[in-house]
Amino acid sequence: MSYREFYENGYGVSIISSEFSYGLELAVLRGNAKNAEICYDTPITGDVCGHLDSETLADIIKDVKALPMPNHCIECDKPCFDIICDDCKEKDDDESLSNCCTAPFTEPGWPDSDFCSQCHEHAGVDIDE
Ligand SMILES: [Zn+2]
Ligand SMILES: [Zn+2]
Repeated sequence: MSYREFYENGYGVSIISSEFSYGLELAVLRGNAKNAEICYDTPITGDVCGHLDSETLADIIKDVKALPMPNHCIECDKPCFDIICDDCKEKDDDESLSNCCTAPFTEPGWPDSDFCSQCHEHAGVDIDE
């Protein structure tokens, strides 16, 4: 059995029970379902916890849910692990800029509008990565 879940505060748990594990094991994760890493520096545990009974497991999960977020997003002030939260990061990525002036496109934005908001000429997308 292997099971992961994530909570509002950006932490999560990974619960593993197999013939190769130390009984019922729990690791504290940080991140989300798409991108998570094991977190060894919470006040709860510095390691993976093994040989758990279901009562201890429930207690640890309660503690993980109650952990405070270490940072706040500079854009929306939502608690997050990075300087900027995933939502705001995605918003930034979505904004395409014109290849003539490196400016945003006129509403409704690329690719529905190919007018550069700076020079009001047809433009392509600036690709600088
Ligand atoms: Zn944000
Ligand atoms: Zn332009």
